[in-house]
Amino acid sequence: MIVGKKILIGGTLLLSSLAYSQKPCGTEQYRDANFSQEKLMQFLQAEAATRSSADYVYPISAHVFQHDLGFGGLNSSILERAIDTMNARYAPLGIEFYLCGPINYIDRTDLWDFDRSQEENELMPYLIPNTINIFFAREVTSGSTGLCGYSNFPWSTNDFIVMNNGCTANGATLSHELGHYFGLLHTHSPGELVNRVNCSFAGDECCDTPADPTLDNNNVNQNCEYIGTETDFNGNSYMPMVENIMSYAPAECRNTFTTDQTNRARFYASTERNYFNCSVSSIDEDNLLNSIKLYPNPVTNKVNIQSEWAIEKVEVFDLSLKLLISNNGLTALNTSIDVDELTRGTFVMKISLTDGRVVSKRFVKI
Ligand SMILES: [Zn+2]
Repeated sequence: MIVGKKILIGGTLLLSSLAYSQKPCGTEQYRDANFSQEKLMQFLQAEAATRSSADYVYPISAHVFQHDLGFGGLNSSILERAIDTMNARYAPLGIEFYLCGPINYIDRTDLWDFDRSQEENELMPYLIPNTINIFFAREVTSGSTGLCGYSNFPWSTNDFIVMNNGCTANGATLSHELGHYFGLLHTHSPGELVNRVNCSFAGDECCDTPADPTLDNNNVNQNCEYIGTETDFNGNSYMPMVENIMSYAPAECRNTFTTDQTNRARFYASTERNYFNCSVSSIDEDNLLNSIKLYPNPVTNKVNIQSEWAIEKVEVFDLSLKLLISNNGLTALNTSIDVDELTRGTFVMKISLTDGRVVSKRFVKI
């Protein structure tokens, strides 16, 4: 993320965030070849007949990327608040989400700034079956394009969501990406006419969302009013729904799904997203973290490390990540490190196992 860094251009200090463009969503849009309004109508009629309007409840597996040394990941309270906000948005749809198990912190600096065009395959080993897998990264890009997040449709090959930490708490992006996960298209999907004659198969295939020319900061003002002058193929002026979650209006404007979007999301919840459960009692990373112990902590002169797996290397860093101690070539389950020379303070110990796994733990020297 380059936002916030100051750069010098022609003697003038500019905030580079002004020049940094970030797309609200990077989901690759394509339609469900098997969708038809008839199937949707049949579903709605069956639902009405059986009065089966029970809520759909979904477990989320949250994977948080952070630095190799175990810091810098999305704050758990931000994540919990974001899920609360999303549940408020989805309550009218009868869809609810909850965190399944502890947050899976993944200490990998290489994925902390996540590039979809290069690194998507790296996500596969972390996927937890029968849950909604959401990855949170410091930055999400697709090549040179910054993304707030992206998702996959029920008819996509892949089946996960990636979120930019900075967009997670904006009240719209997480709900938007889950919208795609439940089969909703962008309101500005191509081809829909303002007079709605083709609304059932063009645009987002929902007739109660008006045609949308693609919203952004240029055609939506700070009061969340559309001020654009775009016209459709027939020359009619657009009157888009700025508050729609599946639009690209500024995040603070978006808080609404329509009735047709509700019906469509419930259709996909029932027919495609119907295999979920949270049976995972623990996550491997957590077991690993708990099975390696440092003691005593705080420490005066010697830290003992007790592990269930063979340790190959132990390194100690200060909080500015300067390497202070490195012990290589170990093959022991238990070892100890002399820290007599360290000043008082907090340090990070990076423990590399012979099987390639890495754990970072903090200790305090007194
Ligand atoms: Zn989107």
